[in-house]
Amino acid sequence: MTTETADQLATIRAAVRDVCKDFPSSYWRALDEHREYPTEFVNKLTELGWLSVLIPEMYGGSGLGITEAGAILEEINRTGGNSAACHAQMYTMGIVLRHGSDELKQRYLPDVASGKLRLQAFGVTEPDAGSETTKIRTMAVRKGDKYVVNGQKMFISRVEHSDLMVLLARTTPYDELEDKTQGLSAFVVDLRTVKGLTVRPLKLMLNHHSTALFFDDMEIPAENLIGEEGKGFRYVIDSWNAERILIAGEALGDGAWFIEKASKYASERVVFGKPIGSNQGVQFPIALAHAHLEAARMMRDQAAAKFDREENCGAEANMSKLLAADASWEAANACLNTYGGAGFDVEADVERKFRETRLWSIAPINNNLVLAYVGQRVLGMPRSY
Ligand SMILES: Cc1cc2nc3c(=O)[nH]c(=O)nc-3n(C[C@H](O)[C@H](O)[C@H](O)COP(=O)(O)OP(=O)(O)OC[C@H]3O[C@@H](n4cnc5c(N)ncnc54)[C@H](O)[C@@H]3O)c2cc1C
Repeated sequence: MTTETADQLATIRAAVRDVCKDFPSSYWRALDEHREYPTEFVNKLTELGWLSVLIPEMYGGSGLGITEAGAILEEINRTGGNSAACHAQMYTMGIVLRHGSDELKQRYLPDVASGKLRLQAFGVTEPDAGSETTKIRTMAVRKGDKYVVNGQKMFISRVEHSDLMVLLARTTPYDELEDKTQGLSAFVVDLRTVKGLTVRPLKLMLNHHSTALFFDDMEIPAENLIGEEGKGFRYVIDSWNAERILIAGEALGDGAWFIEKASKYASERVVFGKPIGSNQGVQFPIALAHAHLEAARMMRDQAAAKFDREENCGAEANMSKLLAADASWEAANACLNTYGGAGFDVEADVERKFRETRLWSIAPINNNLVLAYVGQRVLGMPRSY
């Protein structure tokens, strides 16, 4: 990294931290308690341009790289916040940017960049298909100048807080395909006007605004098809490296928050006449988690640098997500163990962050599938699926 890039990154990090001072842990705790969306926070970051960094300047964004985007999300989580909505607004538009028609880009990207439109929902997962995306069953049938959609999605986040959603649906029946990665198509759904969509909020262990979706003859204008019909799965795969690097940043931010919190408490809390952190049983797990986080950070930095140089970064992107998710979870456990009973007190925020950081091992992709990628695609071992 050049000195100029390092200075720019440090400036970005400091500026984001500065904004986060106005949104302390008590803000996130209250949202979590009432399962509310961080409207003021998202509006503030949008206003300051931090959520449009990945949108090119010609569409009103600042055209920065995944390195800068990851640093922004990392700082939000590091100060005790939850950057899920920010991640979504930054990144979901990528499929339109890379594969959408000029008309689609002109229609949506400037308004996403300005924050006039929220594009924070990405509908892929289905109850029966799970991680096996090529088995999704939601069907979009072309009828004249429209697609008519029927089916169901599961765990789709922020639909109630978005104006637009990217939807992956089947346009060719599975049995008619020789290549099972074909036959899926991606669409922009205008949630403000669409009919035939039922949204059912889900009660999950963290504040993520996830929903089950039911499509009953939902109509999408044909011009909202992203790229070519049948190529949607390829387009989604294209965005995975970026997403994994961003998620790694969020996990690193969480991990750093846990380490700072645990180190401080371990140094201050006195039991048996001395700070608990002077006991190796307390100190070493925190130190070990910190070491693992720093190693994950190096992998993430390498992945982001390769991504921004447009080099193949599949191995690094996957490994950084895996290592950062594991390290943040290790840090979460070290922090909770350090706090003891006090960690279960909602006011300490440890239990909230503990629930939030647990997600990274499971979603948007579970660590087993990342290991399968490393085992099979990087090391060339036999495929399990
Ligand atoms: C809070 C939250 C928010 C989400 N938001 C969205 C969203 O906005 N949009 C969206 O499309 N999806 C979303 N998801 C869904 C998420 O992407 C999926 O949960 C995830 O991809 C895993 O799919 P699954 O839960 O169906 O697990 P399954 O595919 O049922 O797998 C269950 C477990 O089995 C194991 N497993 C499965 N296959 C293999 C294999 N081949 N080898 C080894 N182990 C395997 C893994 O450990 C996995 O965790 C969200 C999920 C959560 C929890």
